[in-house]
Amino acid sequence: MEFNEENDYLFKGKRKRLVEQLKEKGIVNTDVLNAMLKIPRHRFFDDKTSRPALLDHAYSDKALKIGAGQTISHPFTVAFQTEKLNIVKGDKVLEIGTGCGYQTAVLLEMGAKVFSIERQKELFDKTKVFLPSIGYRGAKLIYGDGYKGLPQFAPFNKIIVTAAAPHIPDDLLAQLTIGGLLIIPLGEGEEQIMNLIVKKSATEFEKHTFGKFKFVPMLQHKSGQ
Ligand code: SAH
Repeated sequence: MEFNEENDYLFKGKRKRLVEQLKEKGIVNTDVLNAMLKIPRHRFFDDKTSRPALLDHAYSDKALKIGAGQTISHPFTVAFQTEKLNIVKGDKVLEIGTGCGYQTAVLLEMGAKVFSIERQKELFDKTKVFLPSIGYRGAKLIYGDGYKGLPQFAPFNKIIVTAAAPHIPDDLLAQLTIGGLLIIPLGEGEEQIMNLIVKKSATEFEKHTFGKFKFVPMLQHKSGQ
């Protein structure tokens, strides 16, 4: 993947420090760490007015605003969810909540075939132009409602939900391969519990729960034509 010279020289050191922090917090998957070492996170914030402030924070382990009232997930959250999915090259992955496309870029760097759904038209339009502009052309981006998944492209080896869901959508479970994994933050309050679901057979699922995380809510239906 190639980027403008602008990015790397200035920001490589900052990304290295971010990756060190992620390791200290327990992330061990080297494919995840290498992807995050490579991706120019500072370019995912487009708001010109707050740009200098955001650039300063682009490599701190924080959630930041990306427009349309949404946030790019905390780097640790991105790393944690991705690590739990155990992505291998060629995995077909469905992402719910494209947002600014950072998580999408991580999955692409890891060699996944990515399908990503965003319900906010404004963000969808922006990210659809932005990702290819920095060299990430491989993802299939869809404007739609993630609760329904993408039956026309199912089944998926892995599904990642990057917004807080009140429950596990049945459509997403149905669209997993046998042996497939779904990572989803569950809960309607301020904080959510991270859940990893393993599809053991068409009707059997195994659930693992992890710590608390904070996400914007997963909302029903598409918005804003
Ligand atoms: N993965 C993103 C995280 C963005 S925050 C990133 O790396 O930037 C979560 C996103 O989920 C928001 O953009 C929000 O609009 C979107 N979202 C919320 N509910 C949704 C739904 N039902 N279907 C698709 N996207 C949804």
